[in-house]
Amino acid sequence: MTEAVTLDGVIEKAWAGHRINQTEALSLYSLPLEELGALSDRRRQLAKAKAYDGRGNDIVTYIVDRNVNYTNVCNVYCKFCAFYRTEKDSDAYVITFDEMDKKIEETIALGGTQILMQGGHHPKLSMQWYLDLLSHIKSKFPQINIHGFSPSEFIHFREVFGLPLEEIISKFKAAGLGSVPGGGGEILVDRVRQRISPLKAMSDDWLSVMDVAHRLGLASSATMMFGHVETVEDRIEHLERVRAQQDKSKGFTAFIAWTFQSENTKLKAPTVGAHEYLRTQALARIYLDNIPNIQSSWVTQGPEIGQVALKYGANDLGSIMIEENVVSQAGTTFRMGVADMQRLIKELGYEPHQRDNWYHLLN
Ligand code: SF4
Repeated sequence: MTEAVTLDGVIEKAWAGHRINQTEALSLYSLPLEELGALSDRRRQLAKAKAYDGRGNDIVTYIVDRNVNYTNVCNVYCKFCAFYRTEKDSDAYVITFDEMDKKIEETIALGGTQILMQGGHHPKLSMQWYLDLLSHIKSKFPQINIHGFSPSEFIHFREVFGLPLEEIISKFKAAGLGSVPGGGGEILVDRVRQRISPLKAMSDDWLSVMDVAHRLGLASSATMMFGHVETVEDRIEHLERVRAQQDKSKGFTAFIAWTFQSENTKLKAPTVGAHEYLRTQALARIYLDNIPNIQSSWVTQGPEIGQVALKYGANDLGSIMIEENVVSQAGTTFRMGVADMQRLIKELGYEPHQRDNWYHLLN
């Protein structure tokens, strides 16, 4: 018979840095917010103690990059998305190489080191179009990391190109792809995915892309979009799936959670506020004992809550986001420059440092 662990026992376990299970995570979720925050801050300290020559707990990082959505044409029609268009819409687009060059030149001029390149699931673009785009960018801007194509895009490519994931991802990597964003993770529970994005990659598919990418040497992030139709148990199941995948393939550099933004979307669901955001992020830091970095989401929460989130398990403020289209179409339009970001970090007593995709410090 398994011995029942008291809430105090779970708190002690988490404080000591031990792995907790799903039942224990659920019990921690009901702690007063400040207590859960303190526990997550403790886990952040344990996770980052050895980073950056032992200065990991004095430092908060950020990246300067640009979101480039290469097309808004998409045949997946997620209910929470306000960005997609059909091919027939008058404002449907596919980026030209010249437009891409201009965006990257502006990014470099602003001190950016990366583009986060994602798109709708265009039904007609060929594999050669993507390979040409990647090699064009890489040959012209070798210093820029292409953080591109979320798992659901790769699942879409597998269907459209009729090739195995290994072959597609290898070819993309050879053409210049540097790392894979964790977009489209939403909640890795198929019952939830069926309700919010029934045509998009299901949980096993999402994880299988990450598995292949990691095996081929491409690092990625893991994400969670919550606060819609899922339960807290579903969020914890999501964390469990991410942690189990990380035990296996070890390629997640960071975890980012954000709340559903409802404006202009078809999904009718009550959204959650800052309190629940902080609580969920804190729990993620405690649960994900094998992922070193947690990014706060100022883009959806605003700079102030993004800052507070640094005391709820996060050690990174994410990107300054030179351009953001998807969340802004859903009504969220927070903006921040490098100076604002540095100020927010310093106000809490940390040193701000720009980083690259692999969390190496750049200054
Ligand atoms: S979230 Fe992505 S996959 Fe879903 S409809 Fe929007 S662009 Fe398409």
